[in-house]
Amino acid sequence: MRILPHLLWLPLVLCACAAGLPGGNMPHPPQFFSTDSVRLTWMGTAGCFISDGETAFFIDPFVSRPGLLKVGLGFALAPQSDQIAEWCRKTGNMADAVIISHSHYDHAMDAPFFASNTGAVLVGSGSTAMVGRGAGLNEEHIRVVTFGDTLRIGQFRIRFLESRHGPALFGKIPWPGRMEKPLVPPAAASKYRLGKTFTLLIEHPKGTLVHNGSAGYLPGMFDGITADVVLLGIAGRENTRGLLDNVVVPLGAATVIPIHHDHFFSPLNKPVKPLWGVHLGEFEQTAGAYKETFEIHWIHVGEPILVFP
Ligand SMILES: [Zn+2]
Repeated sequence: MRILPHLLWLPLVLCACAAGLPGGNMPHPPQFFSTDSVRLTWMGTAGCFISDGETAFFIDPFVSRPGLLKVGLGFALAPQSDQIAEWCRKTGNMADAVIISHSHYDHAMDAPFFASNTGAVLVGSGSTAMVGRGAGLNEEHIRVVTFGDTLRIGQFRIRFLESRHGPALFGKIPWPGRMEKPLVPPAAASKYRLGKTFTLLIEHPKGTLVHNGSAGYLPGMFDGITADVVLLGIAGRENTRGLLDNVVVPLGAATVIPIHHDHFFSPLNKPVKPLWGVHLGEFEQTAGAYKETFEIHWIHVGEPILVFP
């Protein structure tokens, strides 16, 4: 299903159609959560909040954003409970799932706390489960998935495709390996090992989204799969053309939303600026050669968009 571009990029305004989940603490604010559409809110990095009015879930929510010095010097990083609570409050304090694409700190560190604040189940690799256990989540709030698994929540069907992390650290994949025991925060960034790397295929009757949270891929991983919209992590990509040719083009997607290009060592209450080395100009210029195939749409942190009306 094709999206309607004229609707997609208009900032959403408050409407009177608030809809909470049964038993919810409070109704989801309508701009984030409406009964007649699929809406997406980018949270910076690869973090997203997605809802269709009945079901809501986070992907890779990360809002603590410790500074570069702390990360680089190996200080123990503490999830910022006030920031996490604020984002949960903004999106209605309820979610069905918190889904993690890989277990690096900038994807998984805050996830258990989003789950405990909203009553959601934490879903990810065995390493992500260790992040959940270390943060005190009960087993009934943890679900381990592997390549090829499918999660059904409401009308969403989410498939966990095998993927590969981008060569983000001087041409190498940072902090590889997996976590074998619960990781109790605060913990250094290097303790958050990669685990499995998933690309998420998110199917809904209104349309199909792909979340490619890291700028990597496996050739042929999308054989036989199509999507309308790709949420494309672009930091640490090997090269732009390879990323587009192996992710966006095979999917036949009409719309690309770049994510994970923001300077995530800076807090979200400051204006979002690009991460060093992301080369947004080069990305736009290279992607421009594909303008007959797909469009690039830049979106803003914290501003919900209508993905599928
Ligand atoms: Zn990563």
